[in-house]
Amino acid sequence: MSVKLDSKIPSGSVDTKWKNHKFNMKLVNPANKRKHSVIVIGTGLAGASAAASLGELGYKVKAFCVHESPRRAHSVAAQGGINAAKNYQNDGDSVYRLFYDTVKGGDFRAREANVYRLAEVSVNIIDQAVAQGVPLAREYGGLLSNRSFGGAQVSRTFYARGQTGQQLLLGAYSSMMRQVDLGTVELYTRREMLDLVVVDGKARGVIIRNLLTGEIESYTADAVVLASGGYSNVFYLSTNAMACAVTAAWKAHKKGAFFANPCYTQIHPTCIPVHGENQSKLTLMSESLRNDGRVWVSKIKGDKRHANEIPENERDYYLERVYPSFGNLAPRDVASRQAKYRVDEGHGVNGGEQAVYLDFKDSINRLGEDKIAERYGNLFQMYDKITGENPYKMPMRIYPAPHYTMGGLWVDYNLESTIPGLFVAGEANFSDHGANRLGASALMQGLADGYFVLPYTIGNYLANTNLAKVDVNNDAFKHGKNEVETELKKFLSTKGSRSAESMHKELGRIMWDNCGMGRNKEGLTSAITKIQKLREEFHNNINVPGEANGLNPELEKAGRVADFIELGELMCRDALVREESCGGHFREEHQVDGEAKRDDEKFCHVAAWEWNGSANKEQTRHTEQLTFENVKLATRSYK
Ligand SMILES: Cc1cc2nc3c(=O)[nH]c(=O)nc-3n(C[C@H](O)[C@H](O)[C@H](O)COP(=O)(O)OP(=O)(O)OC[C@H]3O[C@@H](n4cnc5c(N)ncnc54)[C@H](O)[C@@H]3O)c2cc1C
Repeated sequence: MSVKLDSKIPSGSVDTKWKNHKFNMKLVNPANKRKHSVIVIGTGLAGASAAASLGELGYKVKAFCVHESPRRAHSVAAQGGINAAKNYQNDGDSVYRLFYDTVKGGDFRAREANVYRLAEVSVNIIDQAVAQGVPLAREYGGLLSNRSFGGAQVSRTFYARGQTGQQLLLGAYSSMMRQVDLGTVELYTRREMLDLVVVDGKARGVIIRNLLTGEIESYTADAVVLASGGYSNVFYLSTNAMACAVTAAWKAHKKGAFFANPCYTQIHPTCIPVHGENQSKLTLMSESLRNDGRVWVSKIKGDKRHANEIPENERDYYLERVYPSFGNLAPRDVASRQAKYRVDEGHGVNGGEQAVYLDFKDSINRLGEDKIAERYGNLFQMYDKITGENPYKMPMRIYPAPHYTMGGLWVDYNLESTIPGLFVAGEANFSDHGANRLGASALMQGLADGYFVLPYTIGNYLANTNLAKVDVNNDAFKHGKNEVETELKKFLSTKGSRSAESMHKELGRIMWDNCGMGRNKEGLTSAITKIQKLREEFHNNINVPGEANGLNPELEKAGRVADFIELGELMCRDALVREESCGGHFREEHQVDGEAKRDDEKFCHVAAWEWNGSANKEQTRHTEQLTFENVKLATRSYK
């Protein structure tokens, strides 16, 4: 392990680590809590739950988001559900099985101790949500209902129709707003964090741009939590909301927070296919649909017949054929690759387009249209509205698309980054999913971090750390503010000929072609050169209209794209060095029969990258060795 990466995993057996650690951590007494301030960047599920819990404990919290309301955080879009090891179905689930499924699902590239804790606290999340009044689906008798998600053979996914994220976010948001009302949380909307301020080696504040007035503001705190979401929009086209960006995490990276496993990205198998050059957003069709939908293509290459004209014996239900034990519920990385193989071989819909079918005919015949509508009605309606096709009458067309990022800022067991006092939660950290996240586990992780982990570990940090008083006149704050203003001025004064949007699109193409579902040495090497050229062009030829002192979405976009370009290069470099295939990272040189071939001898580690002061300098790669004492390292099989 690198000297700089101490994961701080507590000793003891995996099932006792968190319990013992909670007892051993220092506490801040109630009267002292109100003397400590914590900044939370992001008010999605991870940030809102953290702000609410820290506020409830008595800390003085300042919470920031780029949206006009926390309810618009990208978490609102989550459709399918949230996992928890409640075993309500009595189908053999347990904390240990959820732990096992997650370690295996992540292709043995996550830390066992973190994953076990996640599975352990998953059960509390459901209780918390129910207590908040989140309307999770119920059976006729009143018990909470479950459905299945990929990579599991039990039903452990709790849901609220196709709007689980929205309902959970309303719960977390309400809890946070209660604290706003009580005065423990101050909420700042339409604010974008553009720098992290480090004083005496510790995170002590942030530099923020007020997106409405353009004012650059400075805020101090004793600790900072980043819960700013994932970076799938590096691909330009993704299922993420348009405002999702890496900027907060990237700025922290430049201030010393290592970025871990940037090449681990998730390409979700069931999205509405790209339909034109002018598209800027892709739409997810929830994985929950694979509970009742069957995925297939025509057995005949180049078949142009309408789906309903292709007879049963000429259909290849390839997931059921290749993975008989998991069938349509094979995990995402596996299902996405199989769709790509079918399309590459010429079996895509309508004579070879980039799409496969997701068909509900059998379930409708078995259960009736009403039951299917009850389960997925809003998703079917969304599909109909976007494509003009009725999925009750003909199969959906779907294709993989960028969706989630397992990589993120490196954190130790306490969710603390390599900068003391900077904690990272939710999709913004790299923690629990290894090289592939299982469906319905992101909501679980974000809420676990915010409700149940950070409230303990931040207290421990504050109780153990000598924190000198700082204010915004400190040199580090002045320097940070100056840096931000200089960068914004530079964007506005370049007066080149290309929009940030066009450069983002170009970056996305490079990333999708070379660092998407399949990656190889040649493609990654050429992508790095192309991205470096794009970066140069960005800084010499960007055109940002308008001014800095007011609302300027083009200026916001320019900053986000500049950061995506630097991140894109790091992702390709990380993918290039990782000479193995694991989970969503599929190096074409390393495969057996089309399946990922890991190299545990050389790569059973987390790679964490250290910024070296300039985008022109290669970053330093550090490693954290992973050990598997409970789930035996094995080749993942869903056959
Ligand atoms: C379409 C879709 C469906 C999904 N469905 C599911 C599902 O069913 N189950 C599941 O488990 N997962 C699902 N996921 C994944 C899951 O929704 C996300 O991983 C999760 O919601 C991320 O939560 P978060 O709190 O980490 O980040 P987000 O919800 O993205 O929140 C980020 C917050 O940070 C703020 N922010 C960002 N940058 C800055 C900045 N620079 N300054 C200030 N504030 C900033 C934003 O305003 C926002 O408040 C889905 C994802 C997508 C795209």
